[in-house]
Amino acid sequence: MDDTQGVSWLRDEDADLRAMLQALEEARAASADGEVPVGAVIIHPERGLIAKARNAKETLQDPTAHAEILAICQAAEALGSWRLEGCSLYSTLEPCPMCAGAILQSRIERVVFGASDSRWGAVDSKLRVLEPGLFNHDVDWRGGVLETEASELIRSFFRGIRDGTHKGSQSSSRPGPESRK
Ligand SMILES: [Zn+2]
Repeated sequence: MDDTQGVSWLRDEDADLRAMLQALEEARAASADGEVPVGAVIIHPERGLIAKARNAKETLQDPTAHAEILAICQAAEALGSWRLEGCSLYSTLEPCPMCAGAILQSRIERVVFGASDSRWGAVDSKLRVLEPGLFNHDVDWRGGVLETEASELIRSFFRGIRDGTHKGSQSSSRPGPESRK
C-alpha cells in the first residue's frame, strides 16, 4: 500500500477489511455448525458493530435464516428501530434477492461483500437489485473484499461434504450435510 491515495481512502479500506474479517469469523463458525459458511456484520456510524450473524438455515430449519437477514433483525433490535440509516452491512457472500430486498427495506446505506455468487447474487451477478434509482432508496455497494478467503471457505465446505470429511455438525438430531443439496 505504498501508492498513497489519501488517508481517508486508507482509513475506509482498513475499516472494510476489519469488518469483513469479523464477518469471516462468523462464516467459519457457520461452517463448524454444518451450515454453508456465510457471515455478516452491521456497523453503525457511531456505535460501531451492532450485529453479527451467520447462516443458520439448517440449524433453525428456516429458509429465511440467511446471515444478512439475521444481522438486520439484530441491528434493528439494538437500535430499537427498523431504520438502519447510516449503517453498513458486510457479508462474506454477495446477497441473494431476499437479502438485497431486506437491505433496501431497512434503509441500510452501504453494502460490502466478499465473494460474488453466480447462482443467487442479486447485487451484481444474477440481478442488480441495488441499481440506483430502481427503488426509493439507494444503497452504495462494493464487492470483492477478502473475496479469496470468503470463496475458499465455501469451496472447502462443499469439498468436505463431497469427500465425506466434513465434520462440522455436532448435533446428531439433524440430518448430516451429506443429505443436503
Ligand atoms: Zn440471502
